[in-house]
Amino acid sequence: MPEPLSPRELLALDRQHVWHPYGPMPGTAAPLLVESASGVRLRLAEPVEGRDELVDGMSSWWSAVHGYHHPVLDEAAHGQLERMSHVMFGGLTHEPAVRLAKRLVDITPEPLEHVFLADSGSVSVEVAVKMCLQYWRSLGKPRKQRLLTWRGGYHGDTWQPMSVCDPDGGMHELWQGVLPRQIFADAPPAGFDAAPDEAYAARLRELIGRHAEELAAVIVEPVVQGAGGMSFHSPGYLRVLREACDAHGVLLIFDEIATGFGRTGSLFAAGHAGVTPDVMCLGKALTGGYLTLAATLCTSAVADGISRGALPVLAHGPTFMGNPLAAAVADASIELLLSQDWAQEVKRIETGLREGLAPAAGHAGVREVRVLGAIGVVQLDHEVDMAAATRAAVREGVWLRPFRDLIYTMPPYITGDDDLARICAAVCAAAREG
Ligand SMILES: *Cc1c(COP(=O)(O)O)cnc(C)c1O
Repeated sequence: MPEPLSPRELLALDRQHVWHPYGPMPGTAAPLLVESASGVRLRLAEPVEGRDELVDGMSSWWSAVHGYHHPVLDEAAHGQLERMSHVMFGGLTHEPAVRLAKRLVDITPEPLEHVFLADSGSVSVEVAVKMCLQYWRSLGKPRKQRLLTWRGGYHGDTWQPMSVCDPDGGMHELWQGVLPRQIFADAPPAGFDAAPDEAYAARLRELIGRHAEELAAVIVEPVVQGAGGMSFHSPGYLRVLREACDAHGVLLIFDEIATGFGRTGSLFAAGHAGVTPDVMCLGKALTGGYLTLAATLCTSAVADGISRGALPVLAHGPTFMGNPLAAAVADASIELLLSQDWAQEVKRIETGLREGLAPAAGHAGVREVRVLGAIGVVQLDHEVDMAAATRAAVREGVWLRPFRDLIYTMPPYITGDDDLARICAAVCAAAREG
């Protein structure tokens, strides 16, 4: 056994050596040291603001939908560990990957038929883009290599995904001349329930038509734009995109990495619109937050197109592709989700968030409160003071991670009503003090 390290030693080493998301090196704000997690609670190695346990309002960035240390997921991981944690996927296959792929095809909209397992969301977006570009190349249209999206999106941090992130929020300035130049429509008008704006829809159609010759695909996050700004839009625009893409010979990619597995109240956000994309990306909640895994699904038309090309293979194959441990847990997580009335639980959380966040609407400095499914957002009229907002939430016994002008929560679906009320109180406190 290695020498035990005290919390203070760990935090000092962390500061010295460990890079954290979107952070400088060395870090400026000390992270909280988590010792273990169970249910909806994170246990801290030492108390902060008098709390040694925090209710998790973030589901570890949308992923831990069943909470932590879940007996069913633990058992799936242990069981698979007994057999093998990993084998290469080139020339070999295994039951967890096959079962998972079959299940994903079964639960996603028709006619998504084929599954590429990747190791993170960003990589699954890279694969989606590669599929689309290669499809057109195979069909003798190599000029079709640009992407169109709407502003306000987020698709990951590797190069192709970065190129379709919101150009203002996504550091495009910094990377001008380095990132591929894509085509941006205005952000979709806000409001899940708002009637689609016909003038906006017409501009989308026009833009797709005008650039059809050079467009490989349109890529969007359906219904909810997550890390780009936590905004919701009418599913009607997804139908507009589908029709315009079909009319002009452009593929359609839905990035459901954040919205998949029930978060918005539909198993997949595409379900709100009754629309199927040609390519769909899944990640985040795929393994119930246990392990890193993502998937890119495509139709047979896309796969057949690629197979007809001069290079008839999809030239992509991550070392840890199809990782059996992750695949086994993902399969168990989806089975667990579908074995219960998840839609009812998401509805219950939606109701709790609407009630619990309503008071924030009256606060000075709050621009808007919005809720959809198990997603609750308080948007301020100013940049959040991260340190003050985090402290306010921790004082309430809750873990939140605000960004820009947004304090938000997407709790695990197992969050009980009392814990949900506590999360809402913390969001309101963070909005007041942040
Ligand atoms: C988180 C996210 C990604 C990137 O996934 P990673 O696993 O962090 O690489 C891509 N698209 C959307 C919509 C996301 O929310």
